[in-house]
Amino acid sequence: MTSAAAKRPQLAHLTAQLDDLRERGTFFKLRVLDDQQAPVCTYDGKRVINLASNNYLGLCNDPRLEEAAIAATKKYGVGSGAVRTIAGTMHIHMELEEKIAAFKGVEACVVFQSGFAANAGTVSSILGKEDFILSDELNHASIIDGARLSKAKIKVFRHKDIAHAEQLLQEVQNEPGRKLLITDGVFSMDGDIGPVDKLADLCEKYGAIMMVDDAHASGVLGRNGRGSVDHFHATDKVDVQVGTLSKAIGALGGYVCGSRDLIDYLYHRARPFLFSTSHPPSVAATCIAAFDILENEPDRIARLWANTSYFKQQLADAGFDTGGNTTPKSETPITPILIGDSRRTMDFSRALFDAGVMATGIAFPTVPEGKARIRTIMTSEHTREQIDQALETFSSVARKMGILQA
Ligand code: PMP
Repeated sequence: MTSAAAKRPQLAHLTAQLDDLRERGTFFKLRVLDDQQAPVCTYDGKRVINLASNNYLGLCNDPRLEEAAIAATKKYGVGSGAVRTIAGTMHIHMELEEKIAAFKGVEACVVFQSGFAANAGTVSSILGKEDFILSDELNHASIIDGARLSKAKIKVFRHKDIAHAEQLLQEVQNEPGRKLLITDGVFSMDGDIGPVDKLADLCEKYGAIMMVDDAHASGVLGRNGRGSVDHFHATDKVDVQVGTLSKAIGALGGYVCGSRDLIDYLYHRARPFLFSTSHPPSVAATCIAAFDILENEPDRIARLWANTSYFKQQLADAGFDTGGNTTPKSETPITPILIGDSRRTMDFSRALFDAGVMATGIAFPTVPEGKARIRTIMTSEHTREQIDQALETFSSVARKMGILQA
């Protein structure tokens, strides 16, 4: 038993688990960013090429967004002062919701404090214990938690397996409860795209509610980054579209888009909306400015995709396993480099960091046992030189560690 557990025996079970992580080589210390999110930045005093953030379009520190945040702070102060339903709704919150609804081409939108809150708050409130949730096995944790909170019966379909999803829908079609089918638009650990159109067709056929979590598709896929639903021309068939303001949009928050009734219902029933304080006005203003940039600067998204194809191709040419054999094949700026063993993955990530590349190791329980990987994310702002430098580092460290043949 370590000294911390000796001091607080009540928490000894936590200490034991941490000791176990240390033994497996997967215990981590948080890396701390010394400056701003950028393609090259400083973590823990070390200058690195950053392939780990979700800052897809480089908006985390766009000067126009900074200005918008400052202006809103001067005008409205730093806090909203309450939850939305009590006294914490400001014009700027409404403006952001209207902006997103118009961008997505839907009737209405509600903004949550995070993408996590949007998913968990929505899934848990639109269904009850008589209902059924059909969920892709690789859906995000916030969907899984929302499903559990709803107390609905959960049926998990094999990853992107339409036939399996249909089989599950058939199994429950004569049950009285409602059915909700949910998929990620882009899967966060493998970078593959969900079959939104085909699943939406199934939902039409069986009268199920269709929900898509577009956290990693917003700002990335679809016209001007409208997401996977737009990419598949499925706006009219998807009842609930979730997105995040924390990744491509560069700030913080999540949102749900859909019919006016869906949004009014969430205003009345979604617990994170009802019981957690709304965004500071600066965040709402930042996001409004970010949507303007999506509308006006499609080049950013084009650059993101050009960088992504180049990086993926070069990784594959160098001999890395970037998925597609034992794991799904990435189709987006999220590119995994499969290693398999957790300890080896974490060692590779640390060695990359020491050599000047920040690329996070992801191990169980975030991904299945034996499928540990380095997860990389490309952005529109990486230069070709930075990408080449990162690729060179990947190859030389991998050769030293025996991950690639010397
Ligand atoms: N859904 C998916 C697929 C995600 O990857 C994430 C972020 N990890 C979320 C939802 C939650 O978004 P946020 O970080 O805004 O809470």
